[in-house]
Amino acid sequence: MPEKLQTRCVIAGGGPAGIMAGYLLARAGVPVIVLEKHADFFRDFRGDTIHPSTLELMHELGLLEEFLEQPHQEVRELRAVVNGQVVAVADFTRLPTRCKFIAFMPQWDFLNFLSMHAKEFPSFQLLMQHEVVDLTFDRRRVIGVHAKTPSGELEIRADLVIGADGRNSVVQARAGFERQEFGVPIDVLWMRISKKQDDPQQSFGFFQHGKLLVLLDRGDYWQCGFVIPKGGFDEIKGRGLPQFQNDIVGFAGFLRDRVPELDDWSKIKLLTVQINRLRDWCRDGLLCIGDSAHAMSPAGGVGINLAIQDAVATANLLAEKLRRGPVSVDDLRKVQARRKWPTRLIQGMQVFIHRRVVTGRTSDREESLPFVFRLLKWFPVLRQIPARFIGIGLRPEHFHSLSAE
Ligand SMILES: Cc1cc2nc3c(=O)[nH]c(=O)nc-3n(C[C@H](O)[C@H](O)[C@H](O)COP(=O)(O)OP(=O)(O)OC[C@H]3O[C@@H](n4cnc5c(N)ncnc54)[C@H](O)[C@@H]3O)c2cc1C
Repeated sequence: MPEKLQTRCVIAGGGPAGIMAGYLLARAGVPVIVLEKHADFFRDFRGDTIHPSTLELMHELGLLEEFLEQPHQEVRELRAVVNGQVVAVADFTRLPTRCKFIAFMPQWDFLNFLSMHAKEFPSFQLLMQHEVVDLTFDRRRVIGVHAKTPSGELEIRADLVIGADGRNSVVQARAGFERQEFGVPIDVLWMRISKKQDDPQQSFGFFQHGKLLVLLDRGDYWQCGFVIPKGGFDEIKGRGLPQFQNDIVGFAGFLRDRVPELDDWSKIKLLTVQINRLRDWCRDGLLCIGDSAHAMSPAGGVGINLAIQDAVATANLLAEKLRRGPVSVDDLRKVQARRKWPTRLIQGMQVFIHRRVVTGRTSDREESLPFVFRLLKWFPVLRQIPARFIGIGLRPEHFHSLSAE
């Protein structure tokens, strides 16, 4: 017989959406258990960006100062190297936020920081190495989850189950939700190359005739993301490692002496990119948020922001009622209603970026600049638009001061 626990809210997944939702609900005095399948937060790359709107939220939570003491880099302007020309793409310095920059911080540090603070609330529990494998139903109502743990099977009954288990959500699948897929023409190859002191400063991306290399500064190494056509990894492997190393050098010549570090395909990881969205994010007893409700592409680096804002909306709309007892499906629909249109617009923008910027038309002219980048170069004021889109998003959520009674 599985071990059994009972709580008010159980959250599947300890990513940005799950940990933030857990933190806020526990802060409001709601008994909450977060289940994370991994033993720690060092998992597949899912982005390192902490956006000005998230930093604003950290301020509202009284955590900003301590947060900024953690190792991070502050990027006030995003630049791209497009067919050899440096173009400033987004200028964060005029945003109406306290922090006018994106903080680059490894996601595991961010999640460790937030979960450490969540543990200060007596109603918060984080169970690592607990993988949700199924939902429990009472007729049509979801009343809990089954999890696989190092010590056997565990059943947790709860008034509300939140699915925050990301793009390959078990919760979403078991709930039988219908998903709309939006074709994505790209995947990403992911690898590290060591960094030298005299390397250029971090620049967001190197675009070249419909191809893209992203370099993220991780102190002593570059975390590299190489965008390839979807399903194109086998062809790249077929051309051989030396050719692949040359491709990287073609984007960032300063890496020439270090690409030999990529001497085995096992050092190059394939990250598949998807964009999709659930028609219904909830049913009786269950709500999906973050990538579990709407998988985001890395384009624009906005998925973490959106996941966090879903979590804030969830706490703002549900915590008060949850503190007293169960919530109705109409309450859950309010979360979807609030978060659906920003999600639709941002996903629409990501589809546009894939089609027009990343895999846009190629040109024979060595130094041609796609029209979008030309506009940004000619009219610097336009750089505030991507800055707002990336840095704040379309419906920023603010923490409504809920605290345990
Ligand atoms: C290659 C790539 C790069 C990206 N780069 C960026 C970026 O730079 N900036 C940005 O803002 N966004 C980026 N994104 C998008 C971003 O990663 C997501 O939108 C964001 O992580 C969503 O957060 P989440 O909490 O909903 O899901 P996730 O971050 O996926 O977290 C889900 C969590 O649930 C856990 N889990 C999964 N299944 C179970 C289970 N059955 N039981 C228990 N736990 C489970 C996982 O281990 C994970 O910890 C990127 C996406 C990709 C694919």
